[in-house]
Amino acid sequence: MIKASIIENSRKEKTTQVDYNGFIGSCPSGASTGKNETPIFRKKIDTEVKEFNQIAKSLEKIEINKFGDLKLIEEKLKDFGANIIISTEFAILHSKQGYKWINSLIDFPKPLGNVIGGGAHFKGKGTSFQEFLVVDNNSKSFLDSSLTNKKIHLELREELEVYDNKFNGEMTDEGAWAPTQLEDEDVLKIVFNVAKKYNANIGLDIASSQFFKDGKYHYRKNVLTKDEQIDFVNSLIKKYNLFYVEDPLDETDFEGFSYIHKKGLIVGDDLTCTKKELLQKAVHYNSINSLIIKPNQVGSLVKMKETVEYAQANKIKTVFSHRSGETMDTALSHLALGFNADFLKVSVLGKEREAKIKEIIKIEKSFS
Ligand code: PEP
Ligand code: MG
Repeated sequence: MIKASIIENSRKEKTTQVDYNGFIGSCPSGASTGKNETPIFRKKIDTEVKEFNQIAKSLEKIEINKFGDLKLIEEKLKDFGANIIISTEFAILHSKQGYKWINSLIDFPKPLGNVIGGGAHFKGKGTSFQEFLVVDNNSKSFLDSSLTNKKIHLELREELEVYDNKFNGEMTDEGAWAPTQLEDEDVLKIVFNVAKKYNANIGLDIASSQFFKDGKYHYRKNVLTKDEQIDFVNSLIKKYNLFYVEDPLDETDFEGFSYIHKKGLIVGDDLTCTKKELLQKAVHYNSINSLIIKPNQVGSLVKMKETVEYAQANKIKTVFSHRSGETMDTALSHLALGFNADFLKVSVLGKEREAKIKEIIKIEKSFS
């Protein structure tokens, strides 16, 4: 039996859930979305769920054996938005033993933890930068690396209480601490000092398209031109030895990205929207050396696979990522393992995010 229904995500927004012969899949939602993302719904959510259930019998007749057979489902669902297609495909993935259906030779990704944040994930009340990230590249296991993220996250709360007199444990949509009285660079300094104690690397998701208006970058206290933004980001990379910088420039500025120093990872998210044609453009301009993979940005696991394979063939690192409005679904963890992701970006705190981390820890334990 196949049946769709409506549930709420971690931000209490409506999203779809699909029951595929007893296996459940559900789709997350973004807040700082890229302009080129596939539409989430093509009609109202209630209408899509109703129409999906009307054709469910014909979906049941489709025989799915190999991953590529998902194409048959996508053809049937071509008039639907990304949300319900991804819920269906996640449910199918669960029915097929997850990562083992894709690849049995796996390598474990490193977990990227979002420890402090602002931007669209805190309704614009905090920092301009959306996420301050940490990653422990030195620990041998996924478990140990994720524990490092937890410790840093915990210690940062105490630091923020010292430096931000209004901070009282507020969090962004992704469970990162959300200071309101500190500027971006003040926060970066705090994260830099704490991460150093744990021998962890640090990074940023600048999500700059969110504050790019009329050709300029609008920070809380100042406005930067494109050239000034490039110089600013490059100076931060140097000063704080940034290992990871996501979306430092507006999502249309493929050429501008080429001027960002690529000592560490320069990552496309809104820039590339998990789409192969946008990644090809980014490779052409030498914009990035790494990209975010979010299945619902492209609305098709078949297309996501093409993007990942193109990235890997071109030595572009892959960062499989959650969305800011999440569900309990763990398909993302299986996709990251099955496709040999370099990193998994699912934050540190919150039951929806911890479910994805725990799923990988469980699989890692089964190997030891
Ligand atoms: C991001 O920008 O990397 C992110 C996860 O945010 P959202 O899901 O809101 O797009
Ligand atoms: Mg991003």
